[in-house]
Amino acid sequence: MFTSLLKRPSVRQHLMNRVNQEKTAKAKAFSEKLLRSGGFTAVCVGTGTPTPSERAQPCVAVFVNGRFFLFDAGDGCVKVMGQQDLPIGLLDAVFLTHYHSDHIADLGEVINRSWIMGRIHTLPILGPEGIAEVVEGFAMAYRLDNTYRNAHHGDDVMPLPTAGATGERFDAPTDGTLLTLFEEDGIVIKTFEANHYPAKPAVGFRIEYGGRILVISGDTLRVPGLDAASQSADLLICDVMNHQIVGEMEQQQLNAGKPRNARFMHDIPDYHIDVHDVGDLAQATQVKHLALVHLMPSVDRLAQIKAFFVDPIAEKYDGEISVPNDGDVFELL
Ligand SMILES: [Zn+2]
Ligand SMILES: [Zn+2]
Repeated sequence: MFTSLLKRPSVRQHLMNRVNQEKTAKAKAFSEKLLRSGGFTAVCVGTGTPTPSERAQPCVAVFVNGRFFLFDAGDGCVKVMGQQDLPIGLLDAVFLTHYHSDHIADLGEVINRSWIMGRIHTLPILGPEGIAEVVEGFAMAYRLDNTYRNAHHGDDVMPLPTAGATGERFDAPTDGTLLTLFEEDGIVIKTFEANHYPAKPAVGFRIEYGGRILVISGDTLRVPGLDAASQSADLLICDVMNHQIVGEMEQQQLNAGKPRNARFMHDIPDYHIDVHDVGDLAQATQVKHLALVHLMPSVDRLAQIKAFFVDPIAEKYDGEISVPNDGDVFELL
């Protein structure tokens, strides 16, 4: 019966209109809320790591006083942004912490999808040394796509001059201080040097607006710049690893006759911050709310998350702790 009803053009049209209108109205209202003047919202778009997981890889969308900035663009972030109705066509700029694949894998799609969805300016992509190579690589891979779409839809709909992105390099100070990258309409974006060697340079970011402070650690050990950036932060979105558990996993892999897996476990603690350092840092800098992302080991059971990450941090830090899922929203203003 339903099949025959759907074959009638008027019914089908009505249903299509209704679906489209409802989806469009909901997305429009959400977009307007995120981009309202005076607002400040962080969306943890991707919260995962390089290891296979249900989670998208690192990406934070920041909506601040009418602007939309993206911090990192790991695999799956464009899909999550679509599911969450984030207004990707209105993206203003992208900031990258470093060039490990889990932080840039979806950059080509961010550039391309934002153009398809109506972006009308060349997309600035800011990052430390290496940015030109990364942006040019994606540009090369998408060059043919851009010409096909332009030829198909025309200059009015898909103009080639705004299809791409420009890589803009900055150099974070090496003395643990902060560098201001952007200052406009009360919004201040600063960067600091992280320690994620041999991924060098690597950086993190501090975004200030309306008396509120958001910090994105990037991948790093505890370093003076992260302490300086985190001072009195309202929200610190922080990389985290439990070094003890990773050490035990290394031994398990050795015992199981899997030396290659053991080698990974052996190598990674020297460039991700340990739970105890996260707790000490957040307490010392009086962070109000800590959001843990990029969990290593990558676990999803609540009991494991609590035992490996939340409990050891809560021993040292008495502020609020969250472990967001992809798409979780934090309102700062
Ligand atoms: Zn990394
Ligand atoms: Zn990473």
